[in-house]
Amino acid sequence: MTTKITQQSKTVELAKLDKKHLLHPATNPKALIDNGPPIIFVKGKGVTVTSTDDVEYIDGMSMLWNVNLGHGNQELADAGNSQLSTLAYASSFKGFSNEPSILLAEKLAELAPGDLNSVFYTSGGSESNDTAIKLARFYWELKGKSEKRKIIALTNAYHGVTIGAQTATGLAAYHKFASSNIDGVVRATAHLLNSELGDKSDPNYADSIRGTIEREGAETIAGIIIEPVQGAGGVNIPPEGYLEAVRKICDEHNILFMADEVICGFGRTGKMFGINNWNVVPDMMSIAKGITSGYSQLGGVMMNDEIRETIAKFDAVIPHGFTYSGHPTACAIGLKNIEILERDNIIDHVNEMEKELKKGLDYLAEKHSIVTNCRVIGLLAAFELYEDPTSGKLFDPTVFPANAVVDACFNRQLIVRALGVYNQIVAIAPPLIINKEEIEKMIQIIDDSITAFKNTRN
Ligand code: PLP
Repeated sequence: MTTKITQQSKTVELAKLDKKHLLHPATNPKALIDNGPPIIFVKGKGVTVTSTDDVEYIDGMSMLWNVNLGHGNQELADAGNSQLSTLAYASSFKGFSNEPSILLAEKLAELAPGDLNSVFYTSGGSESNDTAIKLARFYWELKGKSEKRKIIALTNAYHGVTIGAQTATGLAAYHKFASSNIDGVVRATAHLLNSELGDKSDPNYADSIRGTIEREGAETIAGIIIEPVQGAGGVNIPPEGYLEAVRKICDEHNILFMADEVICGFGRTGKMFGINNWNVVPDMMSIAKGITSGYSQLGGVMMNDEIRETIAKFDAVIPHGFTYSGHPTACAIGLKNIEILERDNIIDHVNEMEKELKKGLDYLAEKHSIVTNCRVIGLLAAFELYEDPTSGKLFDPTVFPANAVVDACFNRQLIVRALGVYNQIVAIAPPLIINKEEIEKMIQIIDDSITAFKNTRN
């Protein structure tokens, strides 16, 4: 007798194979094996994704902050299909190029701030940040300042997991993996506005960017890598004036300002790039994720004319590049993605929806005394859970409050994400096409989930 494949048995069979053959990123493999099947997604439409068990979830995180135009976008699929059947892949090495990668580079130059007119393509965010670190060091070498090698990176930063990006990441857990770090990355404390303005009485001055440069010596520092809004480190929006102050420090000391726009880019924060929320033009910019809304793997490092021209004078092969640098299919999808962003005024829509999301979080904070520190920029948001926000008392670490609320949301068919060293932050980053009713539904589910969490504590 042949096995009857029902939805239920499909899930069981796939889960068995998953456990046998897959190791998942950022996942405890043993917990996955012990605690039942993974959630296996089979389709997506708009802001929702559906599992093998036919359960539809609101994707309140755009998966990994990347599916900006939402799931099941036919135009993006068509752009990919059309390129796949014309020229799926071509090398960009040694004089080869292709039309989508050229046209996308031109479009990126038009959109990027200042004179960031050139791009070096990669396949994702981590590769972009490793590339940015190498390019920054290479640039100073070419300028005859090879001692300028150090990269300043901030606490709570997340820059990815390739070896340079991982070292720049300021979340301790990532440094435990096989003790793999590069040399020359120094840590400064994020968001110390007064210190960056030169206030030496600030108790944290020594650990600020300014203090770090004083200690290390500007002549040893190549660049500072910064997410305009920190993502995985907790959705941390910098204080007003902070990024401008950092730009000024970079100018004073001949240090490159390297913006990591991997989450913030392509409309997420209500501007085309996160840095556009402030009066700052970086020297380099890492991009990925939202450039294709996740429909294909693509990243890049944009750089200003001074860096490009300095490198372009180098009369030898630059020993850097990826097989998928300038991938025509990924670039064709990127071009279509940007065309839709512009044609459908998605960024204006994000700014409208930001107000709805903010209203929803304010409502949660008013209703639940444990909800505090709500923050929203575009459709990038978070709130925190404290046992007593007034006195600053966190929940006992064994409670894992954000996990509890995120799990309760998941049981109610909403995906959001737990963050924070004390597991106190809940992050929300829905697709940019979300509408008012869908935001209200998300808030209702979070509201019910917080109530359920509180009930377990009574
Ligand atoms: N930079 C930032 C700000 C990110 O959030 C991420 C991923 O979440 C990365 C870099 C790494 O990107 P990828 O996972 O595509 O390598």
